[in-house]
Amino acid sequence: MTDSPDDDGPRCDNCGDPIEASPNRRVVTNLEDDEAAYSNFCDDDCLEEWQS
Ligand SMILES: [Zn+2]
Repeated sequence: MTDSPDDDGPRCDNCGDPIEASPNRRVVTNLEDDEAAYSNFCDDDCLEEWQS
């Protein structure tokens, strides 16, 4: 059983970079149609860009 290496983790919703296990990463929870959706970001800068 092997997972595709191209699909092994979340990507930044702002810049599309793979999210590493970094202390700077941010995860935002959104409610869309009563379902929780998670947005991942590299750091605060990407989060602020995405929100603006
Ligand atoms: Zn980013």
